Amino acid sequence: MVTADKTALQPRRFNRWIRTVILIALGLLFLFYFPVIRETYFRCAICGMTHIEQRVTAFGCLISSWERPTESSDWYQANVEPEHKHVWVRGTYAEGKNVFGQTVLMQQLTSLASGPFSWLYLGNYKQMEIYKLSPDPAQARVLLLKLAHFEPEGSPERKVQDEIYSRFWEWRINGMQDPWPFEEGEFLSPVQPTDPDNPPSSPD
Ligand SMILES: [Zn+2]
Repeated sequence: MVTADKTALQPRRFNRWIRTVILIALGLLFLFYFPVIRETYFRCAICGMTHIEQRVTAFGCLISSWERPTESSDWYQANVEPEHKHVWVRGTYAEGKNVFGQTVLMQQLTSLASGPFSWLYLGNYKQMEIYKLSPDPAQARVLLLKLAHFEPEGSPERKVQDEIYSRFWEWRINGMQDPWPFEEGEFLSPVQPTDPDNPPSSPD
């Protein structure tokens, strides 16, 4: 009887052991490979400074954020405006990090951008080139700001935005060698409603 009990116990103990090993393995997999932290990158539409945010992947709550100056932002501060309120536009790249802060996931998605500005891919110094080559940095500033967020699909503002974006893009892919692609004062005034009887709704 005693030997029979012992043999019955052994597979149970073995099963428990297997379960423990599987749980530990899953725990380790989670610790090392699960992206618990999501890091996203923003750039200021005015000066080109970088802003980085780390959030908990599942809940989206902010863990930390910090700024990193770039060649463009240093130049802008020294030559155009000593101070301004940064306007952050989310870029197309994001990273997932494990609990130890190691990168376990890299994403490059055009849909991550929070404004067409990010699709210009200006990097750390091209924004500075835009200001240097523009006849009027104030105009360049306004035009870049118009690309900081997406205007509603189909709106007159969106048409203007698309036009500004494509001119910048054409100019940029031609190495910024062509003349400045905007007329003096162009796109600087607010968009006028095309139908006076049906103006765009204004906030109350
Ligand atoms: Zn800025």
